Amino acid sequence: METRRTVLAATLGAAMGTVAVLGNGSKALAGGSTRALGYRRLATVRPAVALTFDDGPDPRFTSAVLDLLAAHGARATFFVVGVGVTAHPELVRRTVAEGHEVANHTLGHERLDHLDGPGVRAQLEGGAGAISALGLGSGARPRLVRVPYGFEGAASRAELQAGGWEVARWRGCLERHLRHEDPQIAASRLAGRARPGDVLLAHDGGGPDRGPTLAALPALLGGLTARGLVVTSIGGLQAG
Ligand SMILES: [Zn+2]
Repeated sequence: METRRTVLAATLGAAMGTVAVLGNGSKALAGGSTRALGYRRLATVRPAVALTFDDGPDPRFTSAVLDLLAAHGARATFFVVGVGVTAHPELVRRTVAEGHEVANHTLGHERLDHLDGPGVRAQLEGGAGAISALGLGSGARPRLVRVPYGFEGAASRAELQAGGWEVARWRGCLERHLRHEDPQIAASRLAGRARPGDVLLAHDGGGPDRGPTLAALPALLGGLTARGLVVTSIGGLQAG
């Protein structure tokens, strides 16, 4: 199975260690001639997936997501937006206190492919700085980043590489399924397709209403668990 997959980008800077990185080659290469950074999957010997939430913290939804994760004994990585971190630090503190990982989703969730180098740097460093300012210690990993919308562009690719950022992409998105499907069906479809090492994406903020996400999460978490897949954070998956 593993031999059919393409090793996409294992070099993310010496500071990031030597985590083996695997990806779905056909999808990752479909966007254009310039290869996207980062990974959609991680090598793992455990039957585990990394669950990630983007666009929070959001006082409308983040607490409910944390409650659901706690009820299922699951861990996750939260890619938080810097301005939200500054506005709602209590939600980020709770996230880390409950064993989850907090990582960078830039300062203001702007499209990095529309910015020049200094603009990209400001977004990356600003997002990491907002997390660091909370003094959360080992719970925060400001070098781990998810690019808003996944749109990198040449300038941001250069900045991401030069800065030694670890770029996490994703292989399955819950809200993409929710556009067309009932929450229960969307959740079971995503859970049924998940493979060990996958990075799954959901959202605890950013949209007008994440009610469908909240409605789908119990079935997603239950479905993954029923398939024997441990739900953890990216850091948890990398720790083996
Ligand atoms: Zn986002």
